[in-house]
Amino acid sequence: MAATPRRAIAVLGSTGSIGTSTLNVIRDHPDRFTVVGLTAGSNDELLERQVAEFGPRLVALRDPEAAERLRRRLPPASVEILAGVEGITKVAVMPEAEQVMAAIVGAAGLLPTLAALEAKKTVAFANKETLVMAGELMAGASADPSRIIPVDSEHSAIFQCLAGEQRSSIRRILLTASGGPFLDRPPEKFASVTPAEALRHPNWTMGAKITVDSATLMNKGLEVIEARWLFGVSLEQIDVLIHRQSIVHSLVEFHDGAVIAQLGIADMRVPIAYALSYPQRLPNRLPSLDLAALQTLTFEPPDVEKFPCLRLAYEAARLGGTMPTVLNAANEVAVGAFLEQRLPFSEIPKSIEKTMAAHTAKPVTDLETVLAADAWARRVTASLVS
Ligand code: NAD
Ligand code: MG
Repeated sequence: MAATPRRAIAVLGSTGSIGTSTLNVIRDHPDRFTVVGLTAGSNDELLERQVAEFGPRLVALRDPEAAERLRRRLPPASVEILAGVEGITKVAVMPEAEQVMAAIVGAAGLLPTLAALEAKKTVAFANKETLVMAGELMAGASADPSRIIPVDSEHSAIFQCLAGEQRSSIRRILLTASGGPFLDRPPEKFASVTPAEALRHPNWTMGAKITVDSATLMNKGLEVIEARWLFGVSLEQIDVLIHRQSIVHSLVEFHDGAVIAQLGIADMRVPIAYALSYPQRLPNRLPSLDLAALQTLTFEPPDVEKFPCLRLAYEAARLGGTMPTVLNAANEVAVGAFLEQRLPFSEIPKSIEKTMAAHTAKPVTDLETVLAADAWARRVTASLVS
């Protein structure tokens, strides 16, 4: 049998939680993948170790000083080191890369991810904030939607449930949510939540921002908007279901009432490997799902009174245009302030709601409109939290 050629990958956000898990998968399958490009925000030390191990041709750091530090340490001939958003975007479109892992956190990933889609790369897609803030532009940039392969566990599950199905047969998408660490905490105690408590997720180990988003349920709200763009369904067709065990990663109900679910252990390396190897599946050494040991899987409706971020995300999506852009930017600023202990946990939804109330949504026609709404919302929320 002929060997499958190795797929050349560029990893944007290689020093983060998804980025390092991506490199773990690639490390286990040297016969299947090569790394041609890597990017990071400012962690030049980890990036240096990744360069030594994976030997990319091109890397970029958002922080020019970190890029300069790396240049001083690495021999010039070994790897090309770029800086800034421009540098990261060059990695995203580098000709050698067949596939790009989009794993930068937040709005910072927008320009590189858009550029990768425009350059006709297949994009393994983790950076959900970019779809929330500019869904219209992302959908427009990827003339061929089959080139976006979801990485988010729920969206990977839905993608798998839809294999061989027609999207016109979907009645409903059921997006599962673990509910985060505060499902059973009374809301009057939300004001005293510390960053350390919010960062202790019951089922998943992830970057700080998404872990706080999971605790407010904003993560699920962002995922509703993500699902809408990825699968071309209406908002009314997407329901959220609290499922504390994080075993059923999501479900699709079809017009005939049949429901298909995707199950597995809670380990991001599984959807990451699937996105990298699609349509094939790679073997791994992870434990099998043991349903008999689990015995019980539970499902309950979300409480949007207690977790207003989920309601705000639906509202922003219904209003459309630049309102989801504003929702996302306000959330990034509020979560940042909470992590720096400048804003109580209970004020995160309130700051977002106030910012949204001050905004009149405009149609998203071009990148400038999105960037202006994003910058406006950051200013407004920053002044609210200061
Ligand atoms: P993380 O914070 O662990 O890593 C973020 C990466 O982006 C790092 O490499 C960092 O250096 C880089 N980065 C940060 N700011 C940057 C900037 N301004 N410019 C350029 N690069 C920058 O985040 P993560 O948990 O790996 O999440 C990455 C994305 O994947 C997010 O959009 C998140 O919602 C999504 N996601 C993550 C998980 C998970 O398990 N961690 C699951 C589903 C979806
Ligand atoms: Mg998810």
